[in-house]
Amino acid sequence: MKFIKPTFIILALGTLFSCKSTSQWEGQGPIQIIETVDKPIQIQAKQVFVAGNGVFFSNEFNGARLNQVERINDTLIQITILPENEPINPSPWYAFKIWSEIPQDFWIQFSYGGIGFHRYFPKSSLDGINFTNVDSIDFFQPESDDRRPEMAFLKIESSKDTLWVAAQDKVGTDHVKVWKNKILENDFVELISIGKSKEGRPLEILKIGNADDRDMLMVISMQHPPELTGFLAMQAFIEKICEDSPAARKFRSKYNLYVMPQMNPDGVANGHWRHNLGGIDLNRDWINFNQSETKALSEFMEKKVEESKGEFIFAADFHSTWEDIFYTNNEELEGNFPGLIPKVIKKSSKRIPDYIPNIRPNEGKERSVTSNSYFFFVHRAESMTFEVGDNTPREVIHMKGEYLAEELMKILNRK
Ligand SMILES: [Zn+2]
Repeated sequence: MKFIKPTFIILALGTLFSCKSTSQWEGQGPIQIIETVDKPIQIQAKQVFVAGNGVFFSNEFNGARLNQVERINDTLIQITILPENEPINPSPWYAFKIWSEIPQDFWIQFSYGGIGFHRYFPKSSLDGINFTNVDSIDFFQPESDDRRPEMAFLKIESSKDTLWVAAQDKVGTDHVKVWKNKILENDFVELISIGKSKEGRPLEILKIGNADDRDMLMVISMQHPPELTGFLAMQAFIEKICEDSPAARKFRSKYNLYVMPQMNPDGVANGHWRHNLGGIDLNRDWINFNQSETKALSEFMEKKVEESKGEFIFAADFHSTWEDIFYTNNEELEGNFPGLIPKVIKKSSKRIPDYIPNIRPNEGKERSVTSNSYFFFVHRAESMTFEVGDNTPREVIHMKGEYLAEELMKILNRK
C-alpha cells in the first residue's frame, strides 16, 4: 500500500465535493420539494470499547462519534465511524477518547463502512476542550483511484491519561453555551427561546441591538453538525458587531440583529454527520418546515415581521465545505436592499492581500428548499450562505468574519 501525505488529498478533494449537493443548482425549474418528514436513524450505542492489550476507547461524551472498535494485530486497531442514516452527504464526523493501562504506541485505522471517506484532518486534546492538529507525520491516507480514501491511519501514543481525538477543534454543544453566555454579558443582548429540539435542547436566538425592529438582520449557523469552521466565522462576525466601537454602537442603535448560533444542537450532541434527530438535512426543510428547528425559526421571523411591521434586510447562513465560497442570490432579482451582499463580500475581500473571493450567484429565479432561499424569497432579505473551508487557517476565518461585519456596518450605518 502506498502512502502519501494527507495534505495532498485534502487539496485534490477541494474541487470535487461541496457541503451543498448539486441538486440545489437545478433552481431554474419548478420548486423541488424534498421529503423532510422524520426518517429513522441509527442511535449510536454509548459505551467503553475494550480493544485488548489494556487499551480502551470511549464515545461516552457530548459530541462523540465512534461505532465499532476491532483489534487487527498488536500494533493496529480498526475503528468504524458510521452515519446516523442514509443517504447522506459525506461529512463523516468522528470524536472519541482513548486510554491504556500501560503506555504504548499503536496505529488506528479509520474506516467508514463503505459509506463515507476520511475527510477531516484529526485534532487531539488532553483535556477534551483545547484541540490542536495532530503532527502530520503521525497521519496517513492511502492513495485511492477515485480520490475518496475509505480509510486513514493515525499513530497514537496512549497512556493512563485520556487522549481525545476529533474531526474538528471544538466538540459538542458546551462551547456554544459558553460563548452565548459571554455575548449575553453585553447589556444590549437578550436571549430569546423559540422552542426545544426533539431531545429537549433549547433552541435559542440572541437579539443584538437596542433599535426598533423596523430593519432587522438574521444570522444562523451549524445546521450541519460538523461544520465548525462556519461557526467560527459567525463568531468573529457577531463579536465585531458587539464591540464597543463607534461603528458598532451606531449600528446597534439603528438595527436589531438576531442570531441563532446553533441550529441543530441534537445533531451536534449526537455526533451526527449531517442530519438532526429526525434524520433530516435541515437545509432542505425551508419549504416544508417539518422539523422543529426550521419551523421554530421561520415562525419567529414571520411573527417578528407581523408584530413590528418591519422587515429583514440581511440574512447570512454560515456553513463549512472544502474551500471558502459564497453562495448568493441571482443578481437580477432585488430584495430589500439591492446590491448589499455583493458589495459587502467584495469590500471585505479586498482588504485581504491576494484574495479573490469565490462567489457563486444562484442562476435560478425560483424559491428552493434552503435557508438562503427562504430568507430571500419569503422575507426579501438580501441573503448569502458563507461556506468556510474545513482547513482554512483559524486566523483567516477570524479575519474574514470580522471584515464582513465591518463592511456591512459601514454600508448600513450610511443608510
Ligand atoms: Zn452545510
